[in-house]
Amino acid sequence: MMQKKRVLSVILALTLSIGCAIPAQASSISETQKKGEELQSQKDSAEAEKAALTKQLNDLIDEMDKTTEDINTKQEEIDAKETELIQAQIDENNQYESMKKRIKYMYENGNTQFIEVLLESKSIGEFLNNAEYIAQISDYDRQMLKEFQQTVQDVDDQKTALETEKAELETLQTQLQDKQNEVSTLISEKADLIGDLETAIGENAAKLQALQEEAARQARVQQEAAAAANRGNGSSGGSSSGGSSSNSGSSSSSSSSSGASSSPGASITPSGSGRLSNPCPSAYISSEFGGRTSPGGIGSTNHKGRDYAAGTGSAIYASASGTVTTVSYNVARGNYVVINHGNGLSTLYQHCSAIYVSAGQSVSAGQNIAAVGTTGYSTGPHLHFEVWVNGTPVDPRLYL
Ligand SMILES: [Zn+2]
Repeated sequence: MMQKKRVLSVILALTLSIGCAIPAQASSISETQKKGEELQSQKDSAEAEKAALTKQLNDLIDEMDKTTEDINTKQEEIDAKETELIQAQIDENNQYESMKKRIKYMYENGNTQFIEVLLESKSIGEFLNNAEYIAQISDYDRQMLKEFQQTVQDVDDQKTALETEKAELETLQTQLQDKQNEVSTLISEKADLIGDLETAIGENAAKLQALQEEAARQARVQQEAAAAANRGNGSSGGSSSGGSSSNSGSSSSSSSSSGASSSPGASITPSGSGRLSNPCPSAYISSEFGGRTSPGGIGSTNHKGRDYAAGTGSAIYASASGTVTTVSYNVARGNYVVINHGNGLSTLYQHCSAIYVSAGQSVSAGQNIAAVGTTGYSTGPHLHFEVWVNGTPVDPRLYL
């Protein structure tokens, strides 16, 4: 939280007294290194959780494939049962018809009284009841009809049971689909978190790099001051030695060459188009955009934005006019705002302590949209500012 302030006070203290500054700088470096390790371990566990979820998703997909197969098999069984049922109904009907023929034959040969009753039967059930009273009808016919009826009933029951099983499989399939959607959402949330952690790791490593460069610079200043003091002592003691003046000349040339060798790290500053304005004029730039190799061994950095260090509550301004697309919070970015400026250009403002706009709102360039803070993965109050071209972070200096 307080490192940024501490760095500032260290720099201030340095100008007054060089001696006590180095230990505080060193502890800030070790805190930042520790923070980097913490972030890395958070990322590792998020990766592990994502891998476990992915496995769960694959298992669900396998299970869904199997259920789909089961449903298809069940449907084939139902179709076969349907054919069987139709055949059983045909058999039943044939038996009924041939039975009626035999009865008609009997009718034509006498026994009219009961047979009339029989032929007026409106259903098979009624017919059978009537048939109970007619001794002339053969037991064989009656038995056959009952058997055919029973077959129809059995096949129909089997078909109903299959349909129930199929409905259960379909319910299971729906549940699996819901579960799959749920797990997919969790996976994409994990992927977002991992991306944000990568950003935080990059930011932290960039900060570490800056601290280490500052510590090295201070060490040089201290060495030079000590060397100057030694030379001062030497010249006051030994008065007019010709060697002393040539020695001081070589030492100053070596210090200027070491100063020159550290400057290529700052390298080329891209010339900006001026399309965007400074989102936080009250701040100083504490870290630039870009990938660097961290000398602390925390890993290579990938700083996706530019950091503006300023006190909590300092005003953050819209870098250009546009529409607010997102106002949200997450554990890495803290409170953040995204503004779409059209033509594929967007800007992102992270770690805010307060936000004064809402999604969907139009903003004008230079409008006060938020306040600097240290929410999310942040080691001190600052604005982490990103510029996106079609969703890909680019060096903000290209547009400022
Ligand atoms: Zn940053």
